[in-house]
Amino acid sequence: QMAPDFLLAVEGLTVSFDGFKAVNDLSFYVDEREIRVIVGPNGAGKTTVLDLICGKTRATSGSIKFRGQELTKMSESKIVQAGVGRKFQTPSIYDDLTVFENLEISYPKGRSVFGALTFRRDAAVRDRVQEVAEMIFLENLLDERAEFLSHGQKQWLEIGMLLIQDPDLLMLDEPVAGMSVSERKKTAELLNKIIANRSIIVIEHDMKFVEDIAHKVTVLHQGKVLSEGSMERVKNDPKVVEVYLGH
Ligand code: ADP
Repeated sequence: QMAPDFLLAVEGLTVSFDGFKAVNDLSFYVDEREIRVIVGPNGAGKTTVLDLICGKTRATSGSIKFRGQELTKMSESKIVQAGVGRKFQTPSIYDDLTVFENLEISYPKGRSVFGALTFRRDAAVRDRVQEVAEMIFLENLLDERAEFLSHGQKQWLEIGMLLIQDPDLLMLDEPVAGMSVSERKKTAELLNKIIANRSIIVIEHDMKFVEDIAHKVTVLHQGKVLSEGSMERVKNDPKVVEVYLGH
């Protein structure tokens, strides 16, 4: 029988910081078109896992296979090129540029082209900016300077700056932190649009939001998977209840 075709396969992943294993023999698998949410108490290793996948932190051992390509030996920029996009908690939009310009500068450069080709490329970029702006609810604010956007709109713009690079896997760290109720609802809507043709890994603390978006939840504790499955399953898992309420 054939092994299932996962988009991402993390196996036996370990990283030690001065002998402390922040991620400890971790394995998990993400499907195509899946929204996976990683939860867990502070210090569980959630951020470190995303750092390992995007190449910001180097694994001590184990493997990260993305579409069959091994990521653990790849540079951060090669990992981006392979199709992995990561949004950090600190904003990386340019306040003094417009929404349009922020999206435009994020469009992959590719090879330089001249003359008629440049013209064609510009048209393609404009179309793509328009398409992404619609996805992130900013199509009417293309000429607005980013500094005048609401907190939620800035978060969406950042997601748009990743989407314009067309990643196959998007990793988001607490995407709805600080958002209003209606912005949260629209963010859930956005994530569901995004997975039409890609997957998302989200670190999230807001359990209501997790319930709204997660296809599958991975509960991390001390660098390992404590529990995994549907939200319904993990929230009733006695091991999870103990970690969250037991101290
Ligand atoms: P979480 O995101 O689940 O709160 P982290 O991945 O940030 O957890 O951290 C997991 C553990 O690893 C914590 O105990 C943290 O102090 C430690 N850690 C993370 N990064 C480093 C580092 N670069 N050097 C030393 N310890 C680290």
